[in-house]
Amino acid sequence: MKRLMRLRASQHLRDLCAETEFNRAQLIQPFFVVEGLNQTEPIPGLRGNVRHNIPSALKQIEKDLADGVTQFLLFPVPSMKKDSGFDHQSTRETISQIRKQFGNSLCLWIDTCLCSYTTHGHCAVLDEKGIKLDETLEELARSAVAFAEAGADGISPSDMMDGRVGRIRSALDENGFNLVPVMSYSTKFASNFYGPFRNAADSAPQFGDRRHYQLDVRNRSGAIAASVRCAEEGADLLMVKPGLTSLDLIRPIHERTGLQCGAYQVSGEFGGLSVLADQGLIKFDEALLETWHVFKRAGAQYIITYGARYAKSLGIGR
Ligand SMILES: [Zn+2]
Repeated sequence: MKRLMRLRASQHLRDLCAETEFNRAQLIQPFFVVEGLNQTEPIPGLRGNVRHNIPSALKQIEKDLADGVTQFLLFPVPSMKKDSGFDHQSTRETISQIRKQFGNSLCLWIDTCLCSYTTHGHCAVLDEKGIKLDETLEELARSAVAFAEAGADGISPSDMMDGRVGRIRSALDENGFNLVPVMSYSTKFASNFYGPFRNAADSAPQFGDRRHYQLDVRNRSGAIAASVRCAEEGADLLMVKPGLTSLDLIRPIHERTGLQCGAYQVSGEFGGLSVLADQGLIKFDEALLETWHVFKRAGAQYIITYGARYAKSLGIGR
């Protein structure tokens, strides 16, 4: 008799047949550094993650490195909000201190967007008519060069403005950073699942929403086209965000572009697991691991997750 259950009867057989495989080097740990913060602040919903100042971020990275994390994604949060002419001094300081202390023992990506810098919390320079695209691209390109100069390993534009990857790529190349890769948030939807993040990064829009530049969740072809466009503009790595609501897009994006595509397990997804676990309704560790396997099964090359620092304790090897 045909019995599909036969190969699930023991852990040995389940391991023998497992098709998803990954290692800690494919998990990226985000962290927030807030300029002028006196002490760390908890982030509601994101267990194991806090808002850092530079000294506490350095301590956290040291601990994370000991726990086997090697990939980090910095979200810089400046204290002075402006509308244009952004100052990257505090972010440069954060990057260069991390570089100085840890050398090449980590890979440091920098989220590159304007929403933590602007008074209005939108990802662009605005005027009364709306987005000023040229000025926005210019600011993003200046940011990318400033971060690369300070020692970033890679640039991660998250704004979803048309043309940003191409503009950033040429600015990096013109300034001698032609080996600094761009990991683009290439298929990024307007989503309800970004809630805990917005508190952490001071980036909630003060009016309106982001639906005129982030993707519409109902539109599959537009979602794939956004990643194809980033590939054409010179992105090195692509990404879907939020991860769990974009699983169906990961493999098609890879097949269409030939580029590797990752998944961002966003704050609302990770926070959902935290809240359920806090209520005693799920086992946090097992649920987290389950989601990672699903991202890999869907074809994700890498996963950005607030729980990367738990990977070693979950038995994920290097
Ligand atoms: Zn933004």
